[in-house]
Amino acid sequence: MALKIRITAAPRPRQRSLVPALVYRAEAYEEADHFREPTWGCPHDHETVEHAYHCGMTWLNEQAGEQTEAS
Ligand SMILES: [Zn+2]
Repeated sequence: MALKIRITAAPRPRQRSLVPALVYRAEAYEEADHFREPTWGCPHDHETVEHAYHCGMTWLNEQAGEQTEAS
């Protein structure tokens, strides 16, 4: 089972600024799944893609177990 992380962007609710702010969320999906349905989605509203990606990778590492935890 090979999970991949992708980042989705959505308009921030309650944003009235002229600049369309986006929030980013990490999603995990099965690489072999043709439909790439998300098997997990992070519950946060990340400010940047990097934060969301880091969140997803952290989750992915947790799924792999703590044995490969980097220090
Ligand atoms: Zn997150």
